Parts: sequence; C-alpha cells; structure tokens
Amino acid sequence: MKNISVVGAGTMGNGIAHVFAQNGYKVNLIDISEEALTKAVATIEKNMDRMIAKEKITAADKDAALGRLTTYTDISQGVAEAELVVEAATENTELKAKIFRQIDGAAPEGCILATNTSSISITQIAAGTGRPDKVIGMHFMNPVPVMKLVEVIRGYATSDEVTQTIMELSKKLGKVPTEVNDFPGFVANRILMPMINEAIISLHEGVAGVEEIDTVMKLGMAHPMGPLQLADFIGLDVCLSILRVMHDGFGNPKYAPCALLVNMVTAGKLGAKSGEGFYTYTPGSKDLKVSPKFAG
Ligand code: NAD
Repeated sequence: MKNISVVGAGTMGNGIAHVFAQNGYKVNLIDISEEALTKAVATIEKNMDRMIAKEKITAADKDAALGRLTTYTDISQGVAEAELVVEAATENTELKAKIFRQIDGAAPEGCILATNTSSISITQIAAGTGRPDKVIGMHFMNPVPVMKLVEVIRGYATSDEVTQTIMELSKKLGKVPTEVNDFPGFVANRILMPMINEAIISLHEGVAGVEEIDTVMKLGMAHPMGPLQLADFIGLDVCLSILRVMHDGFGNPKYAPCALLVNMVTAGKLGAKSGEGFYTYTPGSKDLKVSPKFAG
C-alpha cells in the first residue's frame, strides 16, 4: 500500500496525515476548507520541527515527508488513486454518510474505506456504501503522532482480510492496534466519556471546582491529565456528539450529556480549539488558567 487519502484536515486529520507521510506513504489530505488545509500543513511542519529538536527525525526526513503530502478541496479528485481512505471529518452521522457516498463513488474498487469516528456505527456507515466488507474503523488517539493506540473496529460486514490489513498497517506506523467490535462508543469512549460527563456533572452540582476535580483524578488516579482538561483538549463539541451517539444508541439515561456541557457547546465554548472551555487558552502559552466562568 502506497497511496493514502485522509478526508478532514482538523485536529485528527492533520495528525493522521503526518504519521502516514512520515512513514513513507504518499498522502492526499482533503478538506472542504482551504483555511483548514493551510492550518493543517503548518501544524504538521511545527510538529515535525519539534521532533527534529528532540532528534526523533532529521530535517531531511521532514522535507521528504512534506514532499509526499498534497492537499485537495475536491474529494473525488483526492481519492481517485487511493488504496486506503481514512475519513476524519466532523463527528456527524449525516455528514459522514454523505462523505462515504462520495468516496465510494470515486475511489478505486479495491480501496479500503476507514473512518476515524469516535462513536458512530461502522456498520451504519458501511451500509451506505457498495463495499461494506471494505469499511472499517481506524480510531487514532489525539495527538496522533504521539499516542500509540489504534482502536480497530470491525463492522458487521467487515472482512477478515481487511481487518488483518489494517492491523498490520497500524503496526507499520509504529502503533499498537487493538481489535474491538462495533457498539456505540466502541471501548475507548464508552469508558472515557461517562467519566468526563460525570466530572462535568460534579462541577455543575458544585461538588468541587475545575482545578479540584482535575487534581483529584491526576494525583489520586495517576491520570496524566484531569477529565475537564482532557475534555477541553478533545473538544467539547466532540465530547457532546459522542455522548449523544451513545445515549441514542443504548437508550440508557446514564449516557445523557450534562446540561452544562450542552450549554457550553451552544455558547461556542469548545475548549482549547476555541480558546475557552473549562480553562482559557492563549496561543503560544502553556499557562493553564481556569475560565473566569468557573474561577473563584
Ligand atoms: P475537527 O473539527 O478538528 O476537524 C474536522 C474537519 O473536517 C474540519 O477541518 C472540517 O473543515 C472538515 N470537514 C467538514 N466537512 C467536510 C467534508 N464534507 N469534506 C471534507 N472535510 C470536511 O474534528 P476532529 O477533532 O479532527 O475530529 C475528526 C474525527 O475524528 C471525528 O469523527 C472525531 O470524532 C474523531 N476523533 C476525534 C478525536 C479528538 O480528540 N478530537 C480523537 C479521536 C477521534
């Protein structure tokens, strides 16, 4: 496999493109937004510079990787020669269905169609294509160049051969693939999101403040990051979408998103990417300050 197309150039898409390009694959990175593509390439360059400073790659490796990366705003053009497409567009069921119809119509017959979805049914996405046996979940973790896990999700019709190919490919990227079955939230988010939601409910009920909740989980449970900071890092809109998929999928009230999370997303407070969530973020600064909304 040589030609990979990545659809969606946001937080995850740029990381996925980075890892494939760094490992010798030719990558077409596709987004409807020219601005997102420009930002993605700048982020990849910045992250590779950081790796050069840590002597993990050389300046020549960076140049070669960037030379293998091409950007597109037209999906059909961008996937025309792909052997694997990894979709990493916004977490929205209708949008993903539309994108998969486009990819299915334009990608070569043998091409594997993977999705980086955090929670949406692989079986449902696959059913909208003419090749459900070749549709699979390839769930990278954020930040993609750093995190080792790839959760490989088999849909109802995913073939053994396609699963094997994706397991092996993930290893070639230096990742540790783990095979799971297709249920809402899979394993990672089925366990992570109720914890994040419970942290938000605890804040909303006044059990403790932002820093106190995160400190308890960091120092008490040895988590590298508290759940509220992690929610900001993932994106509060992404957390809300995942909880809604699990709530709808299981019909169990325990997955109902906290009203505070809904309000924050409605107000455009999406976490690090919007500059404010439970904490405030200033570009170029590593200072973590609790948002004025929750301070004091
Ligand atoms: P994001 O909002 O940062 O980026 C989404 C990108 O998709 C945007 O650049 C947007 O312009 C683009 N897009 C929207 N419609 C498109 C279309 N029709 N064609 C091409 N591009 C389109 O989102 P993200 O956080 O990178 O999440 C992407 C996917 O990865 C989601 O399915 C999410 O659930 C999943 N995911 C996210 C995380 C995380 O920590 N953020 C972790 C694992 C998986």
